[in-house]
Amino acid sequence: MSANLAAIFYARQAGAGAKPAIVWNDAPLIDYAGLPLMAGRYRAALAALGVKRGDRVIVKTDNSPAFVYTYLAVLAAGAVFVPMNAAYTAAEVALLIEDADPVLLIHASATPVPDEAAAPVRRMTLEPDGTGSLPALALTLEPDLAVETVEEGDLAAILFTSGTTGRSKGAMLTHGNLSSNVAALNEAWRFSPEDSILHALPLFHAHGLFVALHLALYNACTLVMLQKFSAEQVIAKLGRVSVFMGVPTYYARLLADEAFDRAACASIRLFVSGSAPLLPSVFDAFEARTGHRILERYGMTEALMITSNRYEQEGRIAGTVGFPLPGVSLDIVDADRRALPPGEVGEIEIKGPNLCAGYWRRPEATAESFHPDGFFRTGDTGFKDSEGRVSIAGRSKDLIISGGFNVYPAEVEIALAEVEGVVDVAVFGVPHPDFGEAVVAAVIVDREDFDVTKLETAAGAGLARFKQPKAIHVLAELPRNAMGKIMKSELRKRYAGTFTA
Ligand code: ATP
Ligand code: MG
Repeated sequence: MSANLAAIFYARQAGAGAKPAIVWNDAPLIDYAGLPLMAGRYRAALAALGVKRGDRVIVKTDNSPAFVYTYLAVLAAGAVFVPMNAAYTAAEVALLIEDADPVLLIHASATPVPDEAAAPVRRMTLEPDGTGSLPALALTLEPDLAVETVEEGDLAAILFTSGTTGRSKGAMLTHGNLSSNVAALNEAWRFSPEDSILHALPLFHAHGLFVALHLALYNACTLVMLQKFSAEQVIAKLGRVSVFMGVPTYYARLLADEAFDRAACASIRLFVSGSAPLLPSVFDAFEARTGHRILERYGMTEALMITSNRYEQEGRIAGTVGFPLPGVSLDIVDADRRALPPGEVGEIEIKGPNLCAGYWRRPEATAESFHPDGFFRTGDTGFKDSEGRVSIAGRSKDLIISGGFNVYPAEVEIALAEVEGVVDVAVFGVPHPDFGEAVVAAVIVDREDFDVTKLETAAGAGLARFKQPKAIHVLAELPRNAMGKIMKSELRKRYAGTFTA
């Protein structure tokens, strides 16, 4: 069979026929017999606009059925899919166009894009029509059902990282990366055509695209698609599906809604969290409210899914991200790249069929992160337990060195989040005249009369002195990016200069 991921999806969907592929605005929109035909119309439109194998196509639209059609069409054409956050400004789009050098920009009419003079590239505009925005051109064309033959190592997509630690970089993902990862996920999470997925994650990000959407297309599952997450919408629609995937903030927001209870989750077999650390306090509260233990996993744009907790309920352990997927090697190493024993924190390096081919047009960044022996420096720190289960200690860039001691933020965050009333927490380092850096915490609490000394007491009881925060700030919200990741660099900036000699 062809190594083209589109061919793999279509082969696995054969026979699903009249089963709804996408539910949109509360109604089935298209079935699995119709999906390749609709994608085929887009494919024909791409060909008419001159898109060929290996060409890059940028797609900028909110979650919508059209996103799925364009994705399948670009894959089938053997072209390279470059999705982009629909919220980007025209200036940001212009920069990305310069960087990705696409032959075509497909965009929803409502999202900002630069004019042709600022960014000379062909356009295909998706008009909102409630059904997935078929561009006028595609309506006039016969579906092109051909799927281009590609090699496993050919590029399928360039996905930009979330930009949490700096300028985002384009990860070059091959058909082989994507197909091997979805096959591994499928096994690990026991997916079957019986499943249906409630999709609220942004499709422009690896979590929404390569985890949630891929699993649906791979199994011909019904995808109940939301334009974006809202606790109310999710609670209303959960009863129709068997799987929900989210970032930790989604789970915190569901818990903040009193309407969210055991009955709302009656049809669910699997809740998955990833993209950022899930606080054990949220894991516990979720289990107490719903009876479900959230399955936490760890991944990144450059390497898709890397680890997952075991599928069985008792195998889903708070504060850990589980075991490397089959075929993935994960080492915890010191500064000289020597493997560390269980329990010791070091940098996480990985290797496997999931690892991307490098950063798009960033040779220095590629050389910095990809070792000649095939291992990739994730930029995350963590440790393994004696069974090989992995926990994330924080990003290398967020490591705090206070008085010469390493403080890993996750450990302090977990301890503070145990205090009743704390709903979210971020721990980061700020320059300090005596200690080099001081540990500082920012917390969000759910009550006005919150007593901050409780945090000091908890830290004092559970953490060595050098790990205890020197300052604790109660905030109304934490700075987050589009994926709900806490921007610690902003917190560091905000509180720099608060400790003076
Ligand atoms: P950038 O690389 O541009 O700074 P980013 O690393 O946030 O941004 P992504 O590729 O979207 O971009 O995110 C991957 C990162 O998210 C991982 O390297 C890790 O730091 C974090 N992450 C993902 N899953 C988890 C998890 N379960 N627990 C803790 N951290 C996680
Ligand atoms: Mg990263």
